[in-house]
Formats: sequence, structure tokens, C-alpha cells
Amino acid sequence: MREAIIEEKKCWGERFVQWRLQEEEIARCAQPGQFVMVRVQNSFDPLLGRPLAIMKVEGNSFYLFFEVVGRGTKIFSSLNVGNRLEVLGPLGRGFSLSPSQALIVGGGRGITPLYFLASHFKENKIPFTFFLGVKNKEELFMADFLQDFSGNHFWSCEEPVEEVFCGTVLSLFHDWLEDRTLPSGTRVYACGPEGMLRNLYQEERISGVPLEVSLETFMGCGFGACMSCAVEKRNGDGYFHVCKDGPVFLAQELKW
Ligand SMILES: Cc1cc2nc3c(=O)[nH]c(=O)nc-3n(C[C@H](O)[C@H](O)[C@H](O)COP(=O)(O)OP(=O)(O)OC[C@H]3O[C@@H](n4cnc5c(N)ncnc54)[C@H](O)[C@@H]3O)c2cc1C
Repeated sequence: MREAIIEEKKCWGERFVQWRLQEEEIARCAQPGQFVMVRVQNSFDPLLGRPLAIMKVEGNSFYLFFEVVGRGTKIFSSLNVGNRLEVLGPLGRGFSLSPSQALIVGGGRGITPLYFLASHFKENKIPFTFFLGVKNKEELFMADFLQDFSGNHFWSCEEPVEEVFCGTVLSLFHDWLEDRTLPSGTRVYACGPEGMLRNLYQEERISGVPLEVSLETFMGCGFGACMSCAVEKRNGDGYFHVCKDGPVFLAQELKW
């Protein structure tokens, strides 16, 4: 466990929070797709850490972005600049980093690890196109994060908003793929709700293209001791543990 200090906090309504945390070692080692387990320092509430993906690194600091969904994240959202956290990480196996071209598909808060990935592609001049889908107007602020990238980016909203594609990110992506031939070496990267990932896996227009998905399975410890984050392997040969074998997997390796 390392101590991290909240250096900056941004909120979007009551549901979304971004922190900049000061912790040199994590900022130095983190790779796109990795995550940290977060607890409030000197508190047993919540008792277990909560896994959050690393969104960005900057000097001796790194960024987390989370949605308030339950007790743990509600408590996190009440913390302020100067408060201290216990952070374990960076953990897990991240994304592969050298495609010849990348298509990135994110749903809602699933943007978090994908933002880090896109930053890496930008730095290394790997061409990518970013598709982001949100459910409603309240979440549309996330599209602003994409302005940090010079590559192509598209977004959708499931609620009608003027000049924004209305529908899911998968229909946006499906339309974009029409009549395109993807060059060999293309990889698709995704993070979002499980149903979205399953449907993306079934998208015929990318059949045969490697698809890497980052899973948000329930997790107890974060390093393979509690076994609570098991997901079934496709070949019937047992289970992966999302915390240490993932959270990023080739979709083709999983049983959906
Ligand atoms: C590797 C990894 C990286 C993650 N990165 C992020 C991130 O960057 N930003 C972010 O906002 N969230 C992320 N998550 C999800 C986040 O960990 C959970 O939302 C959080 O643990 C919920 O804690 P809670 O105490 O607030 O909610 P709880 O009280 O535990 O649960 C509240 C509600 O959310 C549901 N829920 C809780 N956890 C999950 C989950 N993992 N998947 C689906 N439903 C869940 C529960 O069923 C319940 O309805 C990540 C998860 C993993 C495994």
C-alpha cells in the first residue's frame, strides 16, 4: 500500500469525480489498462479497496476518474484536496501497445483506461480513432476529454441532443465500419458495461480483428488472493482472474 494525496478534485454533478493524486512510484510505472485498489487512509469504510483504472500520468502524479455507484465511491466522492488515500498498484495486465492502427470504443466511465491508452498512441504516433458513447446529456461532458487527441474521434448519446449522433456507441461504430476495409495489424480496444462488450464481440464487421476488452468485474483484493473476480475461459479450461490475468483480455479468449 502506498500513500497518495489528493492534489486536485473535479466534479461533474454528483455522479462523476476526477482526482489528481500525488504518488511518484505509481506515476512512474503505470501502463495503459492497469488499475489501482483504493482505500481511504485510516478508515475501515469501505473495508475492501475499490479498483479504479489509471486515466493519465503527469510528472509525479496520476489521475483517476470514477462514477459514484454505491457506498465506496460515494465515500470517495466526499473526500477533498489534501485528504490521503491508501493505494495499491499499479496492478494487472494492461493493453497491448503496438498495433499498426487502433480503434477505441468506450462506454461511459469506460473511457478511463482508454484515455490513457489513446495518450500513449498519440505520444507514439500510432493512428487511432476513438468512439465514445454516453447514456444522457449529463454524461456528455466526457466528450470533452477527447479534445485532447488530435486523431479522429466520434461520440454518441442515447438521449437526443442537437448535432450529436443519437444511439449507442455500437451503432455509431457499426455505421462507421460500413464499407471500410481495416488494414492488417488493426486492433480494437474497448471498455464499458458488460453487455456493450458482449455485443461488440459479436459485431460482424470486426470479425477476425483482435479485440482487447478491459473488464470491470467485482474484485476483493486486486492481486489474485481472494479469487472473487473469476471469469470463465472460452476453451472450457477453467477461469481467469481479472485482477492478475487481466483486467485486459483478448475477447476471443473469454466465454461470453
Ligand atoms: C479493473 C477495474 C477498473 C475499474 N475502473 C473504474 C474506473 O476507472 N472508474 C469507475 O468509475 N469505475 C471503475 N471500476 C468499477 C468500480 O470498481 C466500481 O464501480 C466500484 O468498485 C463500486 O464500488 P461501490 O462501493 O461504490 O459500489 P458497491 O456498493 O459495491 O455497488 C454499487 C452498485 O454498483 C454495482 N457494481 C459494483 N461494482 C461493480 C462492478 N465492478 N461492475 C458492475 N457493477 C458493479 C453493484 O451491483 C451495485 O448495484 C473498475 C473496476 C475494475 C475491476
